[in-house]
Amino acid sequence: MTLRVLISGAGVAGPALALAFRRAGARADVTVVEVAPRLRTSGFAVDVRGPAQLGVLDRLGVLDELREQQTHGSAMTFVAEDGSEIFRLPPEFTGGELEVRRSDLSATLVRHSAPSTEYVFGDAITGLTETPDGVEVRFRHAPDRTFDLVVGADGMHSGVRRLRFGPEQQFVRHLNYYVAGWDVSGAGSDVLHYGVPGRLAALGPRSAMVVFAAPELPVDFHDAAPQKELITSTFRGLGWRVPELLAGLADAPEIYFDAISRVRVPRWTSERVALLGDAAWGVTLGGMGVGTGIVGAHVLAGEVANGRPLAAYEEHLRRYAGRWQKRADPGRFLAPRTRHGLWLRNALFSQAVVRSALLKSTDNFAADPALPSYA
Ligand SMILES: Cc1cc2nc3c(=O)[nH]c(=O)nc-3n(C[C@H](O)[C@H](O)[C@H](O)COP(=O)(O)OP(=O)(O)OC[C@H]3O[C@@H](n4cnc5c(N)ncnc54)[C@H](O)[C@@H]3O)c2cc1C
Repeated sequence: MTLRVLISGAGVAGPALALAFRRAGARADVTVVEVAPRLRTSGFAVDVRGPAQLGVLDRLGVLDELREQQTHGSAMTFVAEDGSEIFRLPPEFTGGELEVRRSDLSATLVRHSAPSTEYVFGDAITGLTETPDGVEVRFRHAPDRTFDLVVGADGMHSGVRRLRFGPEQQFVRHLNYYVAGWDVSGAGSDVLHYGVPGRLAALGPRSAMVVFAAPELPVDFHDAAPQKELITSTFRGLGWRVPELLAGLADAPEIYFDAISRVRVPRWTSERVALLGDAAWGVTLGGMGVGTGIVGAHVLAGEVANGRPLAAYEEHLRRYAGRWQKRADPGRFLAPRTRHGLWLRNALFSQAVVRSALLKSTDNFAADPALPSYA
C-alpha cells in the first residue's frame, strides 16, 4: 500500500522529510503544502554541526552540493561604542562545520525532493479530522483530501499544532525578547555586535540584526511598517553604527521579525499526526534548529518506512532535540538586560577558556551516537 503523506511547511524540516521518504525508498505519495506563495530567497545563514547532522545530509544526497554553497561562518565580534573589540567568537561558533544560507538549504532540499513530491504553494491546512480511512484534511483553497500521515513542519507558529494539539499560547513561551533581521550589502567578514542593556545591534557582511528585551507587545507580525517603527523607536539615539543600521532598515524590502520564544509540546505525535522541527521543539534564533530538524526528518521517515509507530520517532528524538533546547535562551546571551549583566557577559567571554567551553558544549549537543541509522 502506498502511504499518503501530507507535510505542512516547505522550510527546512518539511522538504528534508520529503527527501528522506524518497531516499528511504518508502512507498509514499508525498505532498507539501506551504502557506507562502513561493520559497523565500532572502535570509540568514544557518549551521549544521557534528557527525549525526552532516551524516543525514550526506544520506539525503545533498551534502556535496551544500558544501559548494557554504558561507563559511562569520566571527561574532562584540564591540564597544567606539568600535574597539571586547571579545570575538570564532566562525566555528556560529558556522558549525557547514554554514549555508537558510534559503539555499531550503531550495536545495526542495529541488532534490521535487521529482517525487507534490509541492503546493500559497495554501494551508484549515481542518484535520481523523476518519477510519485516514486524516481528512481541509485546505484554504484546494479541495478536501485524505492522508495516512500529516506532519506539521510549519515552524514556530505551526498551524498543524494549533489545529491538532491546541492554541499557541499553550506551547510557545515568550522569552521576553524580540529579534529582527534584514539583508544588507555590508563589508568585512565579521558580524559586529554592539550592545547596551537590553538592546543589541549587529551588522555583518550580508545582514543586519537587532535583538531587544520587551514583554509581549501587540505587534502585527504580518505588517513590516509597524515593526520598522518599533525597531526605530527602540534603537533611536544609540551610538556606534546604529544610525547607519536604521537607515538600512527603512529601505529594506523584506524584514524578518519575531518574538524570541521557546516551543514546548508535551507530545509530538497524536494518532496519524506528527510535529517536526521548530513546530515541535523550536527556539527562535536557536543555534541547532536546522540540524535537529534534519535529523528529525531522517528519523521520522526511517521509522515510518520501517512500519514502526509514530511514537518510536518521538522516543528517539526527545533526547536529542529536547536536550539542547531546554537551555537555549539566546536573548539573554545577546542582550543582557542590566548593566551588570552586560559587564559580566563581556568579562566572561573575554576569557579564552570560557569561549572554548561554549564551543565544546555546543558540539557535544550536536553529537549523538545513539541515533538510529536505517541501513
Ligand atoms: C535569525 C535566525 C538565525 C538562525 N540561525 C540558526 C543557525 O545558525 N543554526 C540553526 O540551526 N538554526 C538557526 N536558526 C533557526 C532555524 O532557522 C530554524 O530552526 C529552522 O529554520 C527550522 O526549520 P523548520 O523547517 O522547522 O521551520 P521553518 O524554517 O520556520 O519553516 C516553516 C515553514 O512553514 C511555513 N508555514 C508556516 N505556517 C504555515 C501554515 N500554516 N501552513 C503551511 N505552511 C506554513 C513557513 O512559511 C515556512 O516556510 C535561526 C533562526 C533565526 C530566526
